[in-house]
Amino acid sequence: MTSGDCIIGGLAKKTMSAVNKWLKRLLLLLVIALAALSAAFYVFYFRRTSLGPAAPHALVAPSIASLPGLSACWIETGKTFSNFSFGSTAGSILVRHPAGDLLIDTGNSSHFDDEIRGYPFLICSKLRFLAGQLKPDVPLSELLRRVKEDPAKLRWVILSHAHLDHSGGLMDLPRLPVLLSQEELQFANDPSVQAKGYVIGTYLPAFPAPGAPTLRFEPQPYETFDESADLYKDGSVVVVPLRGHTPGSVGIFVNLSPNRRLFYVGDAVDDERGFEERVGKSLILRDSDNDEALANQIVARLSELHEKLPDLRIIPAHGRSAYQKFFPGGPLSCVSAQ
Ligand SMILES: [Zn+2]
Repeated sequence: MTSGDCIIGGLAKKTMSAVNKWLKRLLLLLVIALAALSAAFYVFYFRRTSLGPAAPHALVAPSIASLPGLSACWIETGKTFSNFSFGSTAGSILVRHPAGDLLIDTGNSSHFDDEIRGYPFLICSKLRFLAGQLKPDVPLSELLRRVKEDPAKLRWVILSHAHLDHSGGLMDLPRLPVLLSQEELQFANDPSVQAKGYVIGTYLPAFPAPGAPTLRFEPQPYETFDESADLYKDGSVVVVPLRGHTPGSVGIFVNLSPNRRLFYVGDAVDDERGFEERVGKSLILRDSDNDEALANQIVARLSELHEKLPDLRIIPAHGRSAYQKFFPGGPLSCVSAQ
């Protein structure tokens, strides 16, 4: 071996040990970043607070018939983490009824990015990071046509509440009668709510005028709720108030048959864990609750209902696994009484 070989060998050794050192540091940084990300994910999404039981309440069981021609279809317009049990979704449920079809919620607008552009940087980033994850690739009107539904012929659209990720799809539909209560219209027209980006001002022309609500409840108890609105007056679609997440949030029972029923609850819970384990919302979604105490009471009420009626499929607006249980055929599939 020459002295040149020795020098080259020594240099190579030094370089290798420097590379090793950097690799070790990089690995350590990656582990720390991964741990921080998991901790943040846990704190913001998975950690939930246990809630007390709902106050004792009467249960008024409705009598339900199977209506020929009634069906429900899942129209998914956006999704994230769809391969995981905590996967999130947005979109609509279409109810086909012999007396005219109903669309429940509409997901995000396909013009989402343009519509939020005018907001201050922080609000714009938050909207893009949360609701923006669920924006549609294909506009709602096109998805409806794929299940042979003419959007112009819908009888009504009912919104679980006015937030942008439930009302935005109205921008992709022809002008239709939209069912909203007085409380929700007042909330939607509140400039401070619009300033936070929860309701987008440019969607308001699609809503009824603030003084002309299109949804009113009767003092008619239904299941564990004191008031209700029977939309078709035949017990097939019954709306109940779920005030808390927003002042006029509603839940919608769709009764295909006595043992095939869904209860769409909007954002009253973020996923099935809410009512199965009677736990509050994740930190990330609690932020958009208008009245946290009322919102928690609704979660306890839904948990009680789930205990009493385990076969009733409670579907949170963003809880993808709950849709999959009611619609085993997946998005763009329909379910009828049989
Ligand atoms: Zn939502």
